[in-house]
Amino acid sequence: MDKKISVLLILTGGTISMGENPATGSLAPLGKEQMLSYLPELDQLPVRISTVSFDPMIDSSDVAPDFWAQIVETIRSEYDHYDGFVVLHGTDTMAYSASAVSFMLRDLSKPVIFTGSQLPLGMLRSDAKENVMNAIEIAAAQDSEGRALVPEVAIFFETSLMRGNRTTKKSTDNFNAFRSYNYPVLAKSGVHIKYFPEYTHKVDKPLPLQANTQFDNNIAVLTIFPGLREEVVQATLEVPGLRAVVLKTYGSGNAPQADWFYRQLKAATDRGIVIVNISQCHTGSVEMGRYETSLNLQKAGVLSGHDMTLEAAVTKLMHLLGNYSDREEVVRQLQQPLCGEMNQ
Ligand code: ASP
Repeated sequence: MDKKISVLLILTGGTISMGENPATGSLAPLGKEQMLSYLPELDQLPVRISTVSFDPMIDSSDVAPDFWAQIVETIRSEYDHYDGFVVLHGTDTMAYSASAVSFMLRDLSKPVIFTGSQLPLGMLRSDAKENVMNAIEIAAAQDSEGRALVPEVAIFFETSLMRGNRTTKKSTDNFNAFRSYNYPVLAKSGVHIKYFPEYTHKVDKPLPLQANTQFDNNIAVLTIFPGLREEVVQATLEVPGLRAVVLKTYGSGNAPQADWFYRQLKAATDRGIVIVNISQCHTGSVEMGRYETSLNLQKAGVLSGHDMTLEAAVTKLMHLLGNYSDREEVVRQLQQPLCGEMNQ
């Protein structure tokens, strides 16, 4: 078989790479060789597949920004040698990692497809094999002129290919574990994989890949709820070194009208803290000023996060703060889509 197209499989950990420890009954990482022994079908694919494994492979609950840098560094150093990349990753923070990597890889013209599974590879009913096989096929898919069909960072799970920075984990136990609430799917798998090019990034002329691994995690996420106390808000906003906050508000971006809430937010933005407003609802967008209850936020200098997911807002902020010390530049870039993560 002439295997012209090549894909690099990057094993980082997660349930997909785990097996049951017979002594404790709990799930722990398998090694690369054992994992690959569960995937003999890889040899039958018309794609040249190489595998690289993180050491150690981790449960994705332990993911931090240096782990994203490791993924990006692996892709950057192998970029010219492969047509596409598949990242096997735990499901718990997959949407954060896919969002982060989408901001870190600029001028991407090859697919970077994240996938994982709800059940470990070795289990009889596991969803792992199907997810891996579909992800590889998508990472290798090209048009008649040899251009990648999905030249962007995406997540494949169960039957759907979704833009990475639009995706959220929605279920702890369904095989259909992820959802892109505010953006259409990029492809759907059934008997065939059906691609939707109208929703997928286009690359007119491939440019050299730019990989940026700078992050600043001096941020906080503040979720409002009825009864939230001023001391909690104040303590969060006065964390030493804090540079930005993701504020999770109600509905279309609404928050309590209490004076103290406005004062705390205004004092924080006056100190230079960037505050971005996203909704606790999964579907739809923040529309500041639609209700009186969001006018105060606007007056306090809070910015709209439009329809961004929490995962996209958190990683976009860390990425921008890591790259710009100038607050105005952070604000300017925050308010525009960088790689399809929001509609304005
Ligand atoms: N805790 C696991 C992880 O995120 C869950 C999974 O992979 O499904 O690594």
